[in-house]
Amino acid sequence: MKKILIVGGGTAGWMAAALFGRLFRGLWDIELVESEAIGTVGVGEATIPVIKEYNELIDLNEVEFMQRTQATFKLGIEFVDWFKEGERYQHGFGIIGQDWEWLRCHQYWLRANQLGRARDFGDFSINTAAARADKFMHPRIEMAESPIGHIVYAFHFDASLYAKYLRGLAEQHGAKRTEGRIVDVQTAENGDLASITMEDGRVIEADFFIDCSGFRGLLIEQTLKTGYEDWSHWLPCDRAMAVPCKRTEPLHPFTRSTARDPGWQWRIPLQHRTGNGLVYSSKHIDDDSAEKLLLANLDGEQLANPNRLRFTSGKRKKMWNRNCVALGLAAGFLEPLESTSIHLVQSAAIRLVRLFPDGKTDQATIDEFNRQSDFEWERVRDFIVLHYWANQRDGDFWEYCRNMELPETLTNKIDVWRSNGRIFRENHELFGEESWIQVFLGQGLVPRGYDPLVAIKGDLEIEQFLGNIAATIDRCLDVMPSHDEYVSKYCPAEPVA
Ligand SMILES: Cc1cc2nc3c(=O)[nH]c(=O)nc-3n(C[C@H](O)[C@H](O)[C@H](O)COP(=O)(O)OP(=O)(O)OC[C@H]3O[C@@H](n4cnc5c(N)ncnc54)[C@H](O)[C@@H]3O)c2cc1C
Repeated sequence: MKKILIVGGGTAGWMAAALFGRLFRGLWDIELVESEAIGTVGVGEATIPVIKEYNELIDLNEVEFMQRTQATFKLGIEFVDWFKEGERYQHGFGIIGQDWEWLRCHQYWLRANQLGRARDFGDFSINTAAARADKFMHPRIEMAESPIGHIVYAFHFDASLYAKYLRGLAEQHGAKRTEGRIVDVQTAENGDLASITMEDGRVIEADFFIDCSGFRGLLIEQTLKTGYEDWSHWLPCDRAMAVPCKRTEPLHPFTRSTARDPGWQWRIPLQHRTGNGLVYSSKHIDDDSAEKLLLANLDGEQLANPNRLRFTSGKRKKMWNRNCVALGLAAGFLEPLESTSIHLVQSAAIRLVRLFPDGKTDQATIDEFNRQSDFEWERVRDFIVLHYWANQRDGDFWEYCRNMELPETLTNKIDVWRSNGRIFRENHELFGEESWIQVFLGQGLVPRGYDPLVAIKGDLEIEQFLGNIAATIDRCLDVMPSHDEYVSKYCPAEPVA
C-alpha cells in the first residue's frame, strides 16, 4: 500500500482527507481529485453531537472552525406540525431529567401523565428548555450534579465553507489536491480499481480508492456496478430545494423542521444567513409548485435562486467493494430530517481506519465493514421512518406514510414501546433512548402503560421528583446567556458582504 486516492472534494472527500491525512501521515500518500466545474452538492449544514469526536480526531480548534464556517450551536431539532397541524415538539440532544432508582425519568412522567398531572415533556430536558428560550452555554463538566453539566451540542455551519476549511487542515496534514475532471476509470485484471484518467490525459494510479464523487458514484457504481438498495417505499421524498435567506433574529440554537404537504421544510440559522430547504415527494407535487411553497415560507429576504436536487433514499448494496470504499452521497442517501449524513461520513471513515487493509484484499474485513455499515444505516433509517409513519396529518402523502408497511426492526421497537414505554439501544445504533422517547411522544405515540416498578413510588413523591427537575432546569435558564450573545463573544465570524 502506497497511495490512497480520494475522488471528490465535497464534505465527504475533505472530511476523509483531513482524517486520513492526520492519522496516516508518513504511511500512505493521500491525493484528492475534485473538479470545480462539476462542483459540490453545497448543502448539509446541520450536524449531531458526535461530530465533536471527529473534530477531536483531526485536532480541530472549535473557535476557529466556527468563525471560519459562520457556525452556530445546535441543541436539537424542533418539529413543527409533524404529528398534526398545530403541534410541536423538540428532539433535544442529551439526557432527560435524571434516573430515579433503576428507572428512567420518562417512566415517572408517564405515570403523572396518566393522572393528567404532567408538565410538558420538554421541560425535563435542559437542551429543549434552553432551545425554547434561545439560550446557550457550553456544559460545565465540573457541575455534574446540575443540568448545566449535561448540555449537549452540535453545530450548524455553511457547507461550502466547511469543505474549504477542512481542505486547509487536510493540506496541512500532507494531503495533495488535484484539480480536474475524471473522464475514465481503469480496472486491473482481477477487477480491482487501478487508476483514473483526467480530462487532460493524466493517469493517476492508486492502491486504494475512496469514492466521494456524490450521487453519481463514479467508482462504486458507474465502474464497479455495486448496486443500490432503494428505500423510497419507506422514505418517499425524492426531491429537495435549498435556498438561503437573510439572517433573522433571534439566533435560534436549533434546527427547525416544519411538516408541509407533501414533505417538510428545514430552517438552519447561521451567523451570516439562514439556510432553508424543502424536501418533497415528486409524486405528490411538481417542482414549480414546490418552489412556490418554499419561497412563500421563508423567514427573511431570499438571497439566491433555489438549488434543485434529486435523490433516491437508500444505500449501496456494499459500501466497500474490492479496493474501493464509498463515503457520503456516493454511499447512499438518507434524507436530512435528523441531520445524519455528515455523521455517516464520519463514522464510515473512522470504521475504515479501524479496519484498514494491510495491502491484500481481505474479504472477511470487507464483510465486517459492510455488516457494521448496514446495521448503522438501517437503524438510522428506522428512526427517520418513525417520524413519517406516526402522523395524523391530512393529504395523500401523509396518508401513504401512515399506512405504509414498516421495517420489522422498527415494528418491534414500536410494539415494545407501546405497551410499557420501554426502549433499548441495540449495539452501537446511533440514536439512544432519549432520542426515541422524544420522537415517540412528540409524534403522539403515548404508551398504554408504564413500567410496573413505578408503583413503588407514591404519586405525591413522583410529582415532587418531577417538579424538582423542572424547577432546577428553570433556574439554570436564568443564568444562561442568549445564544446570540454567546456566539458573538465566543466565535464571532467576519461579516459577509
Ligand atoms: C437536500 C440535502 C440536504 C442535506 N442536509 C444535510 C444536513 O443538514 N446534515 C447532514 O449531515 N447532511 C446533509 N445532507 C447531506 C450532505 O450534504 C452530504 O452528505 C455531504 O454534502 C456530502 O456530499 P458529498 O461530498 O458526498 O458529495 P458532493 O458534495 O456532491 O461532492 C462530490 C464531489 O465529487 C466531485 N466529482 C464528481 N464527479 C467527478 C469527476 N468526474 N471528476 C472529478 N471530480 C468529480 C465533485 O467535483 C465534488 O467535489 C444533505 C443532503 C441533501 C441532498
